[in-house]
Formats: sequence, structure tokens, C-alpha cells
Amino acid sequence: MFINGKWMAAENSREFKVYNPANGNIIGTVPDGGKNDAVLAVKAAHDAFPLWSETTAYQRSEFLYRLYSLMMENHELLAATMTEEQGKPIQAARNEVRYGADFLLWFAEEAKRVYGRTIPSARADQRFLVLKQPVGVVAAITPWNYPVSMITRKIAPALAAGCTIVIKPAEDTPLCAIEMMKLVEKAGFPKGVVNLVTACDPGPVGDVFVSDPRVRKITFTGSTKIGRMLAKKAAGNMKRISLELGGHAPFIVCKDADPQIAAKGLSLVKFLNTGQACICPNRIFVHSSMKKAFLNVLTDKVRTMKVGQGNLPGVSIGPLVNRDAVEKVHHQVEDAVNNGAVIVSGGHSLRDNGLDNGHFYAPTILDNVDEKMLIYREETFGPVAPIITYENESELIKRANDTEYGLAAYIYTADLKKAMNLFEQLRFGIIGINDINPTAASAPFGGVKDSGIGREGAIEGIDEYLDIKLGGFSLR
Ligand code: NAP
Repeated sequence: MFINGKWMAAENSREFKVYNPANGNIIGTVPDGGKNDAVLAVKAAHDAFPLWSETTAYQRSEFLYRLYSLMMENHELLAATMTEEQGKPIQAARNEVRYGADFLLWFAEEAKRVYGRTIPSARADQRFLVLKQPVGVVAAITPWNYPVSMITRKIAPALAAGCTIVIKPAEDTPLCAIEMMKLVEKAGFPKGVVNLVTACDPGPVGDVFVSDPRVRKITFTGSTKIGRMLAKKAAGNMKRISLELGGHAPFIVCKDADPQIAAKGLSLVKFLNTGQACICPNRIFVHSSMKKAFLNVLTDKVRTMKVGQGNLPGVSIGPLVNRDAVEKVHHQVEDAVNNGAVIVSGGHSLRDNGLDNGHFYAPTILDNVDEKMLIYREETFGPVAPIITYENESELIKRANDTEYGLAAYIYTADLKKAMNLFEQLRFGIIGINDINPTAASAPFGGVKDSGIGREGAIEGIDEYLDIKLGGFSLR
């Protein structure tokens, strides 16, 4: 662990193992931190806060630029660690490192744009002045599916704002977090400004985050279930919280769309990170008039996808994170088939040809999916494309919005008026219109409803780490 500028074992000396999901090999052993380690890290961040928050925005910007450069210099090492630990194909890992580094670059500049404002008063002898100040110590909890960028998406705005931070990465991907901390150390951040606590059991560390009065803000990315639980606890102690949670994205192919382009788009975004992305489509609404053409193209693309270890040439589908994930995906497929869905491709785990010790599932297309099925409601987090046929466009918006989630949605259409109408009516935080990658460090990322609270990236991202202070000056 990295606490107060020092590398440390857990207080109780316990450790846990990290596995490669593609072959089951042990690839590392890391400290199994607990309550006391979390308290130590919070104290370090708290002690570091006064000095760090008083640095100028230009000084903080310099540190972020340095970390950005170090990430780019160590690009291949970070990507290789990610492929080994998380499983995604090496090119996708490189893309994630670049995407993650972009947040450092973006917030290195946003640090200098934390503007306040003056407000005219009704009294001639009064002035109002609004100031933004860092909230204080931030506690960050990150998931395994994007083990580098989910860290930078939090540390970049927090540090730019003048906050100090304690990070708890996912149990499955602590090695990526450790590689990132080595770069933080090289970048020369003052001790205690960035701290890392690794843990096999997240409960005790999370409990410190939500209860220690020195922590002023929690930022969490992960499942809606855990996010809701943390939000309840944090509310009891009146802490600010932002939540990036699960999704169940509709992907709408209108009758005027080009089926080839839509199918290509779907094949890329559905199987991104083996379907383990919060923005992956989970309900694909295809107009009946073009289903055949769409499915033909999609099936051809899916059948040529190469599944395997992410460091092998040509592989585009890596393993799922663990055995439970394979079982969850298969359970949803079985449930759908039992309720009338048809498997067009895949529909089973993969164990042959060197895949026997990994957690692989064949890229799958399910046709005839409907409301009765689990997959229609539950986040799959796996490589399954459920196709739903629709006829009536007026019903479509209602059906697409019929989910407790509200993260991403996608629309394919050639009709601008229709695109604008769907964009305005769909209750999701991020909408791709003939576009499967509506994300960037400069664009606000986040959901509505059960997909979360707050935004990451963009000009909005830094506000999550700032308090607003009003000064009323009487000139009498
Ligand atoms: P998760 O089980 O909720 O875990 C997320 C993080 O929370 C991990 O670090 C986990 O630690 C920790 N955690 C679990 N129980 C905790 C507790 N009681 N107290 C404190 N921390 C606790 O989610 P996941 O399976 O890692 O990630 C997948 C989910 O994340 C999906 O639902 C996906 O949609 C969502 N996600 C959302 C976004 C977004 O931006 N909206 C981005 C990526 C992922 P352990 O690993 O040790 O359990």
C-alpha cells in the first residue's frame, strides 16, 4: 500500500493473491489492508490537506502534467499489467491508458479555471463574492473493469481542485493501482496527497471512508447495489458523494438506419471489454423491417471474433473477470432461452483450445428477447447481445425508458428530426447518436436514476470536489 509517501504492508501483515483471469495463474500478492490501514491513510491525507490546498492552481497543474507524461512514458507497462490482471486485449488496454491519461491533461488545465463570481446586491453598500474551495479529504472506491481510467477520472479532478485522496481499488485489479501509485511517487506529489489502500474485504475500509469525520467526500464507481449501500451510510454522516453505477443501455436501430453501419457499431460497443462496461448495450431494439439485414451483418462479425488471452495477436474478446461472472451470464442466457429466446450464435462458455483455466464465454447473439426475461432487466456484464424486435416507434421511447437504470443509450437513424426527438425523450445521461463512443475527458460522464449521481470529466467534473462559499461584504 502507498500511505503518506511510503510503501507499506498491512498492519496485520496479511496479503491476498491476484490472478490472471485468462489462465488462473497467480500474478502477484498484495497487502490485505483493513480498518487501521484505512484510518492511517485518511490521517495522512488529512495532514497533507492544508499544504496541498494552499498550493497555487499552477503548481497543482504542473504535478498533473508530470503524472500525465509519466503515464505516457509507461504506457506499455501499464497496458501489459492491465491485460494480465484484468484480461482485456492489449490494444484495448492501450486505449484505456490513453483515455485515463487524458483526464490528467484535462484537469491540469481545469485547475486554473476554478472561477468564482461576484453577484450584484440590491443594497448599494453590499457586495457578494462567491468562492470555490476544495472539499477536503476524498475517499475513492474504484471497480476492476477499467482499473486505470477509473482511478485517474477521480484523482485528476480531486487533485486539481486542491483535495487530497485515499483510493481503494477493486480486489481483482490492485496491481494496476499499484503501478499508478509508482508513477504518483515518481511525479513527486507531497507525501499524503495520494494514498492507496488495497484490501480483499472492502467492508472495513469502506466503513472508515463513510464514517471518519475527516473524509468529506466519497467518490464511487461500481454496482448500484454497493453504491446505494455506501450512499445510505455516507448520508448518515452528511458526506458529499458521487456515484457512477450500473447501466442497461438501449441500442435503437430505427427503420431508416443503415443496418450495416448499425450492426458494425453494435459489434464494437456491445463486446467492448467482453461486455464488461457500464455503457454496453443490454437491450437492442431493431425495427422489424431491417432485422434480417442487421442480424446477418452482426452474426458475420460476431462469428469472426477471436476469443483468448488478451496478449495474443488478433484476440478481440478476453475473459470475464471470474467464474461467478461466467455463471451469471450463462444463467441469463438459459433463462432467456427457457422463455422463448433463440440463440443465433454462442450461448456457452469456452474451455477448449487453451481456454480451460480462464473465464471465457462465447460472444453470443440472442434473438426474440422480450420483457419476460431476466436479461431484459438485469445488467449482463458479459458478451451477450439481446435482440428485441419492434414495430411501433411511438411505443419505442416508453420501452427504452422502462428500466431503473439511466446511464447510456444509443440511436441509429438517418432522420435528424427523429434523432433529436429520441435524444430529448430518452432518460439517460449519455446518448450516442449514430455514435458508439460518446465519451472523452472533456465530456460529462454519468447517469440518471439508479445509474448514479454526479458527473466525471468535463467542466462539471471538478465541481464534485469543490465547496461553494458566499461572502457578503457590507461597506457601511
Ligand atoms: P462492485 O462490486 O460494486 O465493486 C466496486 C468497488 O466497490 C470495488 O472496489 C469493491 O471492492 C468495492 N466494494 C464492494 N463492497 C464494498 C463495501 N461493502 N464497502 C466498500 N467498498 C465496497 O462493482 P464491480 O463488480 O467491481 O464493478 C462493476 C459495476 O460497476 C457494474 O455495475 C458497472 O456498470 C459499474 N461501473 C460503472 C461505471 C460508471 O462510470 N457508471 C464505470 C465502470 C463500472 P472489491 O473489489 O474488493 O469487492
